[in-house]
Amino acid sequence: MVKFPEVYYDNEWIIKHRGIKNPVDPFRPYAYVREKERSRTGEIIETGTIFLTNRECPFKCLMCDLWKNTMNEKVAEGIIPGQIEWGIRRMEGIRQLKLYNSGNFFDKQAIPENDYAEIIGLIKDFDTVVIENHPRLIDDRCLKLDDSLNAELEVAIGLETVHPEVLHRLNKQMDLDDFEKAVRFLSLNGIRTRAFILLRPPFLTEYEGIAWAKRSIEYAFSVGVECCVIIPTRPGNGALDKLMKEGYFEYPLISSLEEVLEYGVRLHAGRVFADLWDLDIFSRCRNCFLPRKGRLQGINLSQVISPEIMCSCSRQVL
Ligand code: SF4
Ligand SMILES: [Zn+2]
Repeated sequence: MVKFPEVYYDNEWIIKHRGIKNPVDPFRPYAYVREKERSRTGEIIETGTIFLTNRECPFKCLMCDLWKNTMNEKVAEGIIPGQIEWGIRRMEGIRQLKLYNSGNFFDKQAIPENDYAEIIGLIKDFDTVVIENHPRLIDDRCLKLDDSLNAELEVAIGLETVHPEVLHRLNKQMDLDDFEKAVRFLSLNGIRTRAFILLRPPFLTEYEGIAWAKRSIEYAFSVGVECCVIIPTRPGNGALDKLMKEGYFEYPLISSLEEVLEYGVRLHAGRVFADLWDLDIFSRCRNCFLPRKGRLQGINLSQVISPEIMCSCSRQVL
């Protein structure tokens, strides 16, 4: 049964339960990753993700841990283009670039507007550029960016969940209408959307977490999303650790991620990926972790369901 506490967790509560931030260098991205990803057309392309060191996001979502690698102050002009250039130089040959700034690309407090021209110069010739943005910050600026790129622009948006009460309690400050409006606006203007969907956000059981992740994928495709990424909800941001202690959150099993990925891929409505970051924490069994990880990687790339991993842990009671 869905179980909700009496209180709603607001910015103040979420910030109060945080730990300290990691030291970051504004002249460098705090991470960059090179990997392969399946493109919309079915090609496997070299992809680079640059995790920009930036000012903290003004939204304070209950499950977000991206604040850990952010700064309290706005970055000076020229800093973000410098980080992008630094990252690109280390990932020669990539065709798709993801620019994730622990927040929203079009947040004026995050990326100075005077930097846009230089950023465009650096990214315009990739095949695809992916940025992240909150639905409430999606407007004509996305169209202008799209017009300035030879690359196809894709906007990643956190849908999180279509469970209305859970979404409200995530403190995301958006509802499904905001999400749908943003996706339809982008689609109408020929810009693709990638939706981030949480597997088992707080307040749900394992079974409910699976069911609502599946419903969220269906919903995302129904409003025009092209690609869904399933993110297993992980503790570590303070707020979720507190909720775990209080019995309102438990992180999902790797087998649930497999189930939701399979479901999404079988819809044949668009690409569906499992997020594999920190995957080991979702495994309760040493025997099958690596085969399961390999299976998820394979399905991400092929979008074809491979045979299930058989292990004695598969029959765990949810
Ligand atoms: S909008 Fe995104 S980056 Fe900002 S707090 Fe929410 S999840 Fe984190
Ligand atoms: Zn096992």
